[in-house]
Amino acid sequence: MKKILFINIFGNGHFNPTLGLVKELINRGEQVTYIADESFREKIEDTGAEFKGHKDISNLINKYLNSGNIKPSLKLIVKFKALIEEILEEVLNSKEKFDYIIYDLIFILGSELGKILEIPTICSITTFAVNEKTNCFLSQFNEIKPKIQKFLNSKIYIRFVKRLQIKYGIKFPSISDAFTGMGMIKIVYTSKYFQLCGESFDESYKFIGPSITDRNENMKFSLETYDKSKIIYISLGTIFNNSIEFYESCFKAFGNMDAKIVMSVGKGININKFRSVPSNFIIRNYVPQLEILKSADVFITHGGMNSTNEGLYYGVPLILIPQSIDQPAVANRVVEVGAGIVIEKDKVTPDVLRQSVVEIFSDNEFRINGEKVGKSLREAGGYKKGVDEIFKLKNEN
Ligand code: UDP
Repeated sequence: MKKILFINIFGNGHFNPTLGLVKELINRGEQVTYIADESFREKIEDTGAEFKGHKDISNLINKYLNSGNIKPSLKLIVKFKALIEEILEEVLNSKEKFDYIIYDLIFILGSELGKILEIPTICSITTFAVNEKTNCFLSQFNEIKPKIQKFLNSKIYIRFVKRLQIKYGIKFPSISDAFTGMGMIKIVYTSKYFQLCGESFDESYKFIGPSITDRNENMKFSLETYDKSKIIYISLGTIFNNSIEFYESCFKAFGNMDAKIVMSVGKGININKFRSVPSNFIIRNYVPQLEILKSADVFITHGGMNSTNEGLYYGVPLILIPQSIDQPAVANRVVEVGAGIVIEKDKVTPDVLRQSVVEIFSDNEFRINGEKVGKSLREAGGYKKGVDEIFKLKNEN
């Protein structure tokens, strides 16, 4: 039995895929301490892992990501710095001796922390992995590079880096090193086939496919009473999901269609404020997405990596409306493999939405191609393969 430290600082999309991995590690006798924000306590404790909560700054991060600003607010920077120090203090002052660390890519100090503790590190990558060949990511990065550089030259950043070096002996990695993932192995939750330039990644990248597992969500939601009509599932994920205008376009697009529509609108929206919801719609703040995807005929998604993987895992064709970050690249990849259609977010109208759904329903190629990706995702091995790879690393060290 080995003791594992798992560090994950932000977001359902970064957290959900790790649950299966943690459960499997525990099933195979490992002991896991999981550091994440308080909102994940219950789900982590249900796996049998020990949970250590850190301050929840997800609202601030969500606000920043939705603002379209490149420059984060001072409040966010201050809170983020405090969060990093809170985690470092927790780990470095802990009496427990860990045998290895698994960290989400966004916690960019994970690899450095491993060096200080002299233990192996594993990076958990919940989007496409990045290298010099994955051009569409790089070109996005180049656009914002000057602004990132400005931030890296700012006094606040330089002081923080210095402080971490003096106080904890931590060396901040360069941003590009950090985002290519620096752990000894990298667990990537997609298949090599679906990964951008999949063949260009070395053996340290383990493409295990989505980590599909029971998330113990205890939500009352049943599709059983549904008749034979098509099911359209709509969700813009858990971050970029506050456009009332988009949801109202969906009402207009599908209100008269012979289809059942399940729409997840996110926790920030008061559902009672929608005026005249068509009778074929079921709207919730959060739904058991994996359950719904098993029956869905099309998934209208923002192209978040998890939602995309999960939809394709069940062979569901996608209509992607990318909002930000990695989503345009993910959406392009879906179009490349022929499993869906992209609508630019400022071109969404009820007509375009409706026509896109009609196109998906009338051309079986989308489902066939989606199924091909789905097969690659199901065969990638999931959390069991992830744990096999972690054990291989463990036995070599
Ligand atoms: N999710 C869910 N129910 C919902 C909305 C989202 O279970 O009603 C889950 C979804 O299955 C996925 C995650 O939340 O695992 C969203 O991650 P993704 O990367 O797609 O998008 P993000 O929320 O990070 O933008």
